[in-house]
Amino acid sequence: MLELAVSKSEVSVSERLDTILEKQQAACRRQRVLSADQRRDAIARVKKIVTHHKDALIEAVNRDFGHRSRMETELCELMLVATAADHARSHVKKWMKPRRRGVNLTSLPGSAWVQHEPLGVLGIISPWNYPLLLTLSPLIDALAAGNRVMIKPSELTPQTSALMAQLIETYFDEEEVAVVTGGIDIGAYFSTMPFDHLLFTGSTSIGRRIALAAAENLTPTTLELGGKSPAIVCDDYSMDKAVRSIALGKFINAGQTCIAPDYVLVPKGTGTAFAEALIAEVKRGIPDLASETYTGIVNERHLERLEQIVTEAARLGGKVLTAGQAPVGKMSPTVILNPPNGVAILEEEIFGPVLPIVEYSDLDDALRFINDRTHPLALYVFTKNKSREKQVLSGAISGGVSVNSTLLHLVQHNLPFGGVGHSGSGAYHGEDGFKRFSHARSVFKVGPLNSFEMLGPPFGRLAKLTTNF
Ligand code: NAD
Repeated sequence: MLELAVSKSEVSVSERLDTILEKQQAACRRQRVLSADQRRDAIARVKKIVTHHKDALIEAVNRDFGHRSRMETELCELMLVATAADHARSHVKKWMKPRRRGVNLTSLPGSAWVQHEPLGVLGIISPWNYPLLLTLSPLIDALAAGNRVMIKPSELTPQTSALMAQLIETYFDEEEVAVVTGGIDIGAYFSTMPFDHLLFTGSTSIGRRIALAAAENLTPTTLELGGKSPAIVCDDYSMDKAVRSIALGKFINAGQTCIAPDYVLVPKGTGTAFAEALIAEVKRGIPDLASETYTGIVNERHLERLEQIVTEAARLGGKVLTAGQAPVGKMSPTVILNPPNGVAILEEEIFGPVLPIVEYSDLDDALRFINDRTHPLALYVFTKNKSREKQVLSGAISGGVSVNSTLLHLVQHNLPFGGVGHSGSGAYHGEDGFKRFSHARSVFKVGPLNSFEMLGPPFGRLAKLTTNF
C-alpha cells in the first residue's frame, strides 16, 4: 500500500506516482492487448477481494461512516461488485470480438470492421459515499477493456481506502493495478497525469477542475457527477407505492447516494398527505434510528451542512417533519413541505436524509421546475399512464430514468450509467463500460480485386465516378 503524504516532499510524491505510471505504460508496451483469459483472471481477482474479505471491508466502511448498515454495504456495494464481475467475465470474450461493418460500394469487395482495443493506463478518482462500489465497479470495466489502472480513492473514508489499497496490492502487481491514497493534493496531482483516460466520480465543482486539468494532456474523461434528481408522482399512481419506493431510494445510506431522489413533485393538495405517509413509512422500516439498520452521516462537516439547510428552509416557511430523534453522528430522516423558491435545499444537491416536497399544478408546471435547474443524474416518474410517462421522458433530460421505482436503473448490467451536462459525461457499466474504456479502432482491408492505385493520377478512371455523385 502506498501512503502518500504531500507534506513529506512534493517531489517525492509526484515522483512515486510518475514511477507507477511509467511502470504501467511499460507493461502496456510489452503486451498492448491482453487476452480474454487474462482479463477474466484479473476480474476474478476483483471478485475475490469482495467475497474473501467481506467482513473486513464491511467493518472498514462501518468505521469510516461512524456507522454504516451492514446490509447496505453488502447489498449496495459488495453484491453489485460481485455480480458486475460475473457479468463481465461471462461476456468479455464476446465484447472483444471484432464487429463487422458494411463497406462503400466503390470499395467492394473490401471488408471493414471495428475492433475494441485497450486505451492503455486508466486513472480512477472515486468518492466516499459508496467507496467500494464506485472504485471497484469501474475497475472491472477498465480491466474488461484490457487496461492498466491507477486509483485514487477518497480521503473521507480512510479505513476503506487503506484496506482497498492493501487488498489490491495483494491481488495485483503494481504494473496492473495500483492504489494511491491521499487527500486533495494527491487528487490534484493525479488529475494532471497523462493517463489515456481519466474516470472521475464526485461533485460537479471538482469535476470541472478535473476536466480542466485533464484537458492539458488531452486526456479524455468520464465524469460521474452529482446534481438534483427529481421524482414526479402523478395522481393516477398509488401514493402508498410511490412513498415506499421514494423512501427506500432516499433514505438508504442516509440519503448519501448520488441518484437518491433529491426532491419530490406531487400534485397540488396532496403534499401534506404525501409527507406524512413518507415519515410513517420511514418509522415502519426503521423504528429505532440508533439501530444497525440506519446509516450515519460521513462526518461532522456534512452533518452541520445538512442541519443548516434544514434550518434555513424552516426559517423561510417550509414545514419540517422528522422521523424521530437521531443519535450523535446520524441525522433523522427529514421531509420539508413546500420550501419557498430560492432556498438552498431547492438549489444545491442535498446528499443527506432530507427530502423537500413541492406541489405542482400540472405536469407542464412540474417539468418547468425541473428544467429551471441543470440536467439531473436521475429522474423518477410514478404513473400508470403511458402518455404521461412519455410526456415526462420527452419533457426533461436526465442521465438515467427509473419508471415507477427508484435507483433500479443503476443496477442493470445492460444499461449504461452516467450523467448528462452538469451531472456528468460518458457512461459505464457492463458492455458500455467496456466500450467506454476501449478504443474503437476502425480497420479497412482491401479486397483481392481492388486496386486503389488505379484511381491515382492521371485520374482518368475517376472521371466516371465524379460525374455520378
Ligand atoms: P468530491 O468531488 O469532493 O471528491 C471526489 C474525489 O475527488 C475524492 O477522491 C477527492 O479526494 C478528490 N478530489 C477532491 N478535490 C480534488 C481536486 N481539487 N483535484 C482532484 N481530486 C480531488 O466528492 P465527494 O464528496 O467524495 O462525493 C460526493 C459527490 O459525488 C456528490 O456530488 C455526489 O452526487 C457525487 N457522486 C456521483 C456519483 C455518480 O456516479 N455520478 C456517484 C457518487 C457520488
